[in-house]
Order: sequence, then C-alpha cells, then structure tokens
Amino acid sequence: MTSPAGHRTVRRHNLALVLGCVAEAEPLSRARVADRTGLTRGTVSSLVDELIEARLLTELAVERGGTGRPAAPLQLNRAGPAGLGLELGVDRLGACVVDLTGAVRAQVVVPSEHRDTDPAAVLDALAALGEQVRTAAGLPLAGTHLAVPGIVGDRAVVRLPNLPRWTGVDAAGGIAERLGVPAGVANEADLAALAELWFGQAPADFLHVSAGIGIGAGIVLGGELFRGAGGRAGELGHVVVEPDGPACRCGGRGCLEEVVRLAEPHRTARAFGVALVGAVALMDVRTIVLGGLDPAVAEPLRAAVAAELARLDPPVAVALGDPAAGGALRGAAATVVRALVRNP
Ligand SMILES: [Zn+2]
Repeated sequence: MTSPAGHRTVRRHNLALVLGCVAEAEPLSRARVADRTGLTRGTVSSLVDELIEARLLTELAVERGGTGRPAAPLQLNRAGPAGLGLELGVDRLGACVVDLTGAVRAQVVVPSEHRDTDPAAVLDALAALGEQVRTAAGLPLAGTHLAVPGIVGDRAVVRLPNLPRWTGVDAAGGIAERLGVPAGVANEADLAALAELWFGQAPADFLHVSAGIGIGAGIVLGGELFRGAGGRAGELGHVVVEPDGPACRCGGRGCLEEVVRLAEPHRTARAFGVALVGAVALMDVRTIVLGGLDPAVAEPLRAAVAAELARLDPPVAVALGDPAAGGALRGAAATVVRALVRNP
C-alpha cells in the first residue's frame, strides 16, 4: 500500500528540483529558478534559504545595472560539502577531492605494490591518503566512493581477479569506519566511463574501455550507466575472442584479456576488433572510447582498433579518453557530490 506524498516528501523533491536547476545552468537568480521550475517565487526563496543554510548554494554579489530590483545570482557552494574519491589499483593507490561542481580540489596518486599485502593494511594506507587530500582541500566531506578493479556486490567487494586477497572484503565498510564518512564502492571501469560522460567529450551513448592491467568496460546508454542485472555488465576482458586460445583464470578460453596479455600488436588489435564488433552489434553504440592506456601505445592502438571496425555500417567512432575527464578517481569523487545534488 502506498500513502499520499506528504509535505516533507514534496519539500525534499522541490529542494532537489531547485538545486538541480541551479547546478545545470548556474549562475541563476531566484526569479529565473522560479521561471524554470514552475514553483512560486515565495516557495523558491524559502527553498533557496534552506539550501544556503545547508551550504549547498551560495549567493553571489548583487548584479548592478539594468532595471527593476537587482538580482543576486545563485551558484553551487564551492566551499560546501565535497566528495572524496579513492582508488585501489593493482599497482597504485589514489585519492582525490572534488567540490560540489565536480572540480578537482586536491589529488594524490602513489605507486603501490600490494598484491601480497593484507587488505586491512591497504585500507589503512588508502584512508591516510584520503586524510591527506581532505586536509589539502580544506572542505567538509559529504562521503567517499572507492574505485576497485573488479566486480562489486551490494557493499562488499565480490571479486578482484588481479587482487585475490580482497575476495569478500567489505572495502566500503572498512573505509567508512576509518574516515568516519559514508562510503560506497564501484567498479573502476564504470567510474571511468561516468567521468568521461560528466567531464569529457563523450555522447550520451558509448562504450568506455578501460585497458590497464585488466580490461573492463563501462556501458553508458541514454546518459546513464548500464550495470546489468547483478552489476557485472561490461566484463569485456572476458569476452571470448579466440575459442581455441589460451586458458583464462575465469575458466574460459581465449578471453580478450588473455590474448592482449600476449602483447603482439596485430593480434591485440584483432582481438579488440572481434570483442567490440560484438559489443556494437548488441548495444548499437556509435562511439567507443579507449581509456587508461599508456600514452606511448594509445594512438597506435586506437588507429588499429578503428581499422578493425572500419567496415561497420553505420560507422563507429573510436576515440581516446579525454585526459581532462579525470578517470575512475574523479568519477568516484564526483559520484558522491552528484548523489548529494540529486538528493539534498
Ligand atoms: Zn576470462
């Protein structure tokens, strides 16, 4: 049984409406917010006061000139609640703070060899990096999100093929306990795809391939991440490209990731081509973005993969990721603030 939307539900909905409206088109005056949302000016003013009190919005100096009453434009509060992104890579750890607009305010990435390290010690190191960037940014943290190279269950890390000691570790719980803020965890390829969507040049429908030590993909359809029924969508590295190829630790044979590991350039491009032609046929995407590549091999690989897909009709563009998008680390941090803006 459902009950009618109460006053509080409506107010929360309207707070999100006003905040989202400003986030989309800042700076905006209260009057413009009223016009755009269809709320009365009185209601908008009351909601804006609450959002300013919560340090989510800030009012800029009054614009002079023109006729009528001067309007103080509103924008997201750059000194307000921030998002902390953390990254557990196979060979590195990272931390990054973004403000409410998603702009990076502090970041640190350090090489780290932790395949044989106790996950608790790695969580300690990640939390210390988080504290370091929190201090450097000087902003209050709304929460944190951790990027991991593997498949993620509800809260616990389910499987990290390249970091087997992490199987079943509640990484989000461990980080939340150490830093004292709400924490989430997500697949690094998904977060890198979201960073490309939010801060890069990608269209609303694309496949983002993260090719580092492992190969994963983030699928974005209609401007939303497609996670699949159990959050496992985008395991491009385990698409079979050579049915008689080398055995893979996933139990399959001839997976893309194993063939690419052999590092013969022609075979690598051919293997990507086989996997991506299948992906394009299934999802009807027209753009493939290759991210996470070593700059020395990025452009030759992009050109070789594009050549493998050249005969597709309609044509598919193969692009390199936008370096300004920030990858999985910024995607993780921005996930926190975007959730806050959607649900203040
Ligand atoms: Zn496999």
